[in-house]
Amino acid sequence: MTQITIAKFGGTSVANTHSMNCCADLILKDSSVRLVVLSASAGVTNALVALASGLEPEERSVQIDNIRQIQCAIMDELSPQEVVREEIERILENISALSEAASLATSLALTDELIGNGELMSTLLFVELLRQRNVNAEWFDIRKVMRTNDCFGKAEPDTTALFELSQLHLLPRLKGALIITQGFIGSEGKGRTTTLGRGGSDYTAALLGEALNAKRIDIWTDVPGIYTTDPRVVPSAMRIDKISFSEAAEMATFGAKILHPATLLPAVRQDIPVFVGSSKNPDAGGTLVCQKTDNPPLFRALALRRGQTLVTLHSLNMLHARGFLAEVFGTLARHNISVDLITTSEVSVALTLDTTGSTSGISLMTTALFTELSSLCRVEVEENMALVALIGNQLSQACGIGKKVFGVLDPFNIRMICYGASSHNLCFLVPGEDAETVVRTLHHNLFE
Ligand code: ASP
Ligand code: MG
Repeated sequence: MTQITIAKFGGTSVANTHSMNCCADLILKDSSVRLVVLSASAGVTNALVALASGLEPEERSVQIDNIRQIQCAIMDELSPQEVVREEIERILENISALSEAASLATSLALTDELIGNGELMSTLLFVELLRQRNVNAEWFDIRKVMRTNDCFGKAEPDTTALFELSQLHLLPRLKGALIITQGFIGSEGKGRTTTLGRGGSDYTAALLGEALNAKRIDIWTDVPGIYTTDPRVVPSAMRIDKISFSEAAEMATFGAKILHPATLLPAVRQDIPVFVGSSKNPDAGGTLVCQKTDNPPLFRALALRRGQTLVTLHSLNMLHARGFLAEVFGTLARHNISVDLITTSEVSVALTLDTTGSTSGISLMTTALFTELSSLCRVEVEENMALVALIGNQLSQACGIGKKVFGVLDPFNIRMICYGASSHNLCFLVPGEDAETVVRTLHHNLFE
């Protein structure tokens, strides 16, 4: 079989019948698209996340009605076959029952079971829409092949199992119908539904691309590509036509909302180009993310990640000691914490913990972790920090970068700087309230 293209559509692309029809137009235009990955209709996952937190009956019915309205608006326009209507009704009832259970006692497993329903509904409705347009489309339950660990809220897929199961259950099907499946969800060893972290549908598409050796992965969203920075923060931000995997991975890791941070890894491993465009405005073009680009610029983009926690650890034991850092990182690893940035001095170490991405919404600095770290050293925690990352090429080889960047940031308090580990980025921490002004100032001086 010739290589296929995988198309992934985000929540706004499947928010209503009109948007879904735009997706169908795009799919039908490109006969290499054989597999389609969908997010939940816009607004549904957020409502489900709210329900999973355990709401009072009144708020609960507000959220359930909200979900029902989004999905029923699509159903009413489609007037689907009775079986589809019944299936959506059954899922809505299940959401209602699970939400009630969550209000009594919530758990991470229950949360994932609840929030995975958004993707189940959007895919059912989209298959129906395609069938009404005489497309031979088939609904596929991704949980059959996307096996994960049981780290609910941010489950890690088993790529070996995905490869084997895809060959078995998915590949033969691609020869027949157009396959429509869910992003974001998977299943763990006991068959319970898991999720890959907010925005995880892109990751699903990339993982499937790798497993099926796709020729391209198209990520259709509501913006026509990747910009030099978030255009909502800096309206003069410019679209990047072509960008390398390494640059895009740095952008995604450091907070650019355009792609799920882990998305690119499977695509890079297999060298599959990823196209990012707007399903509502496909003619506006987009950004192609690929292995190499011609003449990569020194400064490529600015990313901003909010909600950072800065932890500073002080201990005189660090002075000329060995093994102190190992102990600190051992403790963090036992608490399942991923550290982002680190700087050290003779008697202290500063690091940041990322709080974004997980659906659990629980602060990473738990009392247990704080107590354990406090037995090793003095611990200071500062919340609401923002990480600004300048992404570029050969940054650590260039002269005068410090002056160019920090020279224009005079009025701001820079709390921590990381530079030199990667030639692709320079990043630093500023108080949350300064973040946007810092990004605007830098964009104006370095990009315009
Ligand atoms: N529906 C999920 C979310 O909103 C996954 C996704 O859209 O990629 O996070
Ligand atoms: Mg999304």
